[in-house]
Amino acid sequence: MIPFNKAPVTGLEINFIKEAVNSGKLAGDGDFSRRCEKWFEDTTGSLKTLLTPSCTHALELAALLIDTQPGDEIIMPSYTFVSTANAFVLRGAKIVFVDIRPDTMNIDENLIEDAITSQTKAIVPVHYAGVACEMDTIMAIASKYSLYVIEDAAQGVMSKYKGKALGSIGHMAAFSFHETKNYTSGGEGGLLLINDKSLISRAEIMREKGTNRSQFFRGMVDKYTWVDIGSSLLPSEIQSAYLWGQLLEAEKINDKRLDDWHFYYKALTPLADSGKVALPIIPEGLTHNAHMFYLKLKDFKSRTAFIKEMKNQNILTPFHYIPLHSSPAGQDFGVFSGVDVFTTKESEKLVRLPMYYGLGSTEREEIVAAIYKSLES
Ligand SMILES: *Cc1c(COP(=O)(O)O)cnc(C)c1O
Repeated sequence: MIPFNKAPVTGLEINFIKEAVNSGKLAGDGDFSRRCEKWFEDTTGSLKTLLTPSCTHALELAALLIDTQPGDEIIMPSYTFVSTANAFVLRGAKIVFVDIRPDTMNIDENLIEDAITSQTKAIVPVHYAGVACEMDTIMAIASKYSLYVIEDAAQGVMSKYKGKALGSIGHMAAFSFHETKNYTSGGEGGLLLINDKSLISRAEIMREKGTNRSQFFRGMVDKYTWVDIGSSLLPSEIQSAYLWGQLLEAEKINDKRLDDWHFYYKALTPLADSGKVALPIIPEGLTHNAHMFYLKLKDFKSRTAFIKEMKNQNILTPFHYIPLHSSPAGQDFGVFSGVDVFTTKESEKLVRLPMYYGLGSTEREEIVAAIYKSLES
């Protein structure tokens, strides 16, 4: 069976983990965590980055930092992972879902303004498949209405929007290092990126159980004490050591994924030309990270048949999100603004092909051959 995903391994991780173990210091904010955070600050241009146990935690921290309150409204696409919404629902907010664009599956920036009310607090664009949302428009709307923008860049590590790293554009952003993402910190992990200076010091405090421990260690205060609400949102050094072994080869991983992505694209273009499938679209000005390669079939029925055919040929091609507004919790905690023209329709057509760092060249050939065979039958 060719799986849909395998956790990326460069081979460097194990030695860094040993180093961490031998150092006798395994709690968060150690040497490996600092190295990783500096790497992200240098490569993205973000003002401050803080590792977290997951992207979900980074989003929850962002929701706390903008002081999300019951009654606040948060705008986001319905076609996303549950954590995008849950982070704000946990603070009592109402989710306002906006339809997506059929080309990128990202929030339709032209529909956001209609969804804004006096209760709106933030916009959470999700960069689906590592392909950027239309950030210039989104930032201009946010500035006009004084809203926060929190990028869910879980899938967007190493991607760019008009030359700017995803995660460095909104007031804050979240990366994921879950094993299904381009880089992992040993299975689970995340990062909060902060681009608004005024949020940094409170972020450090909330992440450290509501204490000023970070400031204390930098010698900025003479006592280490409880100063605010907070939680324990630091990953261990074992996780950061694993991640460091990935970041040193970040370009290599990125190039390899892009090579697979272009291989699929070229090999499947004849099927797109004959109208059997639709291939991903990357708008002008964007640099993506090959987080995902998806196909769109004609409709829900042809997708179901395709997945079954591929499984019969021992290849797993899962579909993705069931739109949140049609899920039980989504109905309780959210509303859809305007009409769902594309969210349900486009999501029902989409399947993802195996895409991971360890994917072999014979395997990808087999996958393409199986796709041709599945679509003939
Ligand atoms: C993976 C993912 C998350 C959650 O990441 P975790 O690190 O597993 O918490 C959130 N949003 C999106 C869009 C994701 O793809």
